[in-house]
Amino acid sequence: MALSTSRPTGSVGEIFRAIRSAGTMSRAEIAEQTGLAPSTVSLRVDVLVGLGLLRETGVNASRGGRRSRRLELDGSAGYVASVDVGAKHIAAGLTDAAGRTLRQEERMGSFDGGPEELVAWLWAFIEEMIAASGLDPDRLMGVGVGITAPVEHPSGRVVHPAFMPSLSDAVIPKLFHRYTAVPVLAENDANLLALAELATTPYESDQLLAVKLGTRIGCGVVSDGRLHRGIRGAAGEVGHSSAEGIAMISCSCGIETCLESVASGGALVAQLSELGYDVESSADVVAQGQTGDPVVVDILRTAGGQIGETLSRIVNFFNPRAVVLGGGMAASEHLVAAIRAQLFQRCLPVVANDLEVRPSRSPEDAPLRGASFLILDEVLSPARIDALARGDEEAQAADPSADRTESH
Ligand SMILES: [Zn+2]
Repeated sequence: MALSTSRPTGSVGEIFRAIRSAGTMSRAEIAEQTGLAPSTVSLRVDVLVGLGLLRETGVNASRGGRRSRRLELDGSAGYVASVDVGAKHIAAGLTDAAGRTLRQEERMGSFDGGPEELVAWLWAFIEEMIAASGLDPDRLMGVGVGITAPVEHPSGRVVHPAFMPSLSDAVIPKLFHRYTAVPVLAENDANLLALAELATTPYESDQLLAVKLGTRIGCGVVSDGRLHRGIRGAAGEVGHSSAEGIAMISCSCGIETCLESVASGGALVAQLSELGYDVESSADVVAQGQTGDPVVVDILRTAGGQIGETLSRIVNFFNPRAVVLGGGMAASEHLVAAIRAQLFQRCLPVVANDLEVRPSRSPEDAPLRGASFLILDEVLSPARIDALARGDEEAQAADPSADRTESH
């Protein structure tokens, strides 16, 4: 879990966060870490068990041969829903409070309606999944939404999308609140890829670029273990850097030939279609490349070179530990090889020497997992758990999208 590692001061919510971060803890370990008296720890743990958030699990031999019961998060405390609105598909998932995936579904097709219509559709999708899973709708704790566009944080306002322009200025959480009172957070999909990656990294203060190579091109920036969103949520919009080549798809970003319009999955679909190939999606382009067709391989290598060239400038500037590639196009070995070659050829030795360039772990569901981490971190934050323990209903129902403080 990509949680803060600062030492908890010992409120009920902070004890909960410590256990959530560690996986399991004994009461003695909590007392040791917080400096609280064992009796105080017991009282606070009892509150969390009483709220259904923690449960006892097994025993472990402790020093002196005594055996202590361990505590872990009770996954049945509730669940969150996550949705990922891509250019060619919409995926949704349900994840329990302990972060375990309960269900995932994907529906193909692109959405061309307005924001109200989109959110109505997404909410119906979530309700259908909850019903099909046999879960109690009242135990839904929050919703995380991924969008292929810059999203202002924490308001969830879609800002100047180069793609799906009908969503411009839509405040996604507000639209969801017509249907549900639970907290809702919206986030750029490449940022969610970065969050999913961060959750699996062993480095606490990691520096990462998570590049989403799908129908469009986006990038999540992780600096010092935290997502760097920029002032308006537009950090990492590398897809709209000026690039060499011929624009194959139109883009409303305002740059004449942006990287996305010459080298994205969408651009390659357009280019191959023009040459008579039967391709509709990034996956079709990847599959054509795998047949070894020299024309397709050449097109993939050229696109990879263009992407790598743009990334090399950012990598030189940012000096990340890793460039992680996700999205459908990251499955093309020809494209990825060309990106790698450009990066190692063009980056400064001091930057390239320790640079790791690799596909993301479990790229298929990374945005959904990222969205579930984002919303779980919000609904299980120390402040919300403390409010729950106090019985403070107003604080529990607080809208995170109105909260001006960073929650991650
Ligand atoms: Zn563009």
